[in-house]
Amino acid sequence: MPRITTLLFDRDGTLIKDKGYLADPSGVELLPEAGEALSLLFRRGFRLFVVSNQSGIGRGLFSLEDALACNAALAEQLADFGVTLTDIVFCPHAPEEHCPCRKPATGLWDVLRERHGLRPGAAVMVGDKAEDMAFAARAGLAGRMLTLTGSGLDTFSRLGLGEGPAETLTLRRLIPKSEQEPDLLLPHLSWLPEAIQLVEAAPAAGPSRSAPG
Ligand SMILES: [Mg+2]
Ligand SMILES: [Zn+2]
Repeated sequence: MPRITTLLFDRDGTLIKDKGYLADPSGVELLPEAGEALSLLFRRGFRLFVVSNQSGIGRGLFSLEDALACNAALAEQLADFGVTLTDIVFCPHAPEEHCPCRKPATGLWDVLRERHGLRPGAAVMVGDKAEDMAFAARAGLAGRMLTLTGSGLDTFSRLGLGEGPAETLTLRRLIPKSEQEPDLLLPHLSWLPEAIQLVEAAPAAGPSRSAPG
């Protein structure tokens, strides 16, 4: 039975409003209840990380400094809730650069794992896109949770998992049919304590872990 200690969050659409290539730190806007949700988890001793694709840098839409300033603004807003993020990592490349760090590639996980001694079996990823789910699957994390904020509801319906409205969808386990699918539907970050309990109680049984014939 895994004990979850490490929570990885996508940034745009998961922690803050996805404004599309956000370059201005004054535009960083925490999603409703994100501060409270992370505050509770931080006080319970979870280590919190942000893992983000920021291809706006590689596309020439904004600078590395802009991205760092937005991340700093996020950290400041979370500090108002008593939350300290252990680390924020991001990929600055455009998709056509085929770098090893743009989610769903797992280069950013490798960085965090080495820098902080993380274990995949103790970590879950929360995000709003299929890339976030595939990232978690490829990294071998204990859970991959699709939130319905940001692009989440759209991701949910495009994967054929169901239809909204979001208010009618509730926390539940899913059996992923591909690496792009979540193993847990997390309608909102405030459900995270219950979601973590579900992962700890019944780890996902992927094909690679099923008992031999
Ligand atoms: Mg996102
Ligand atoms: Zn990259």
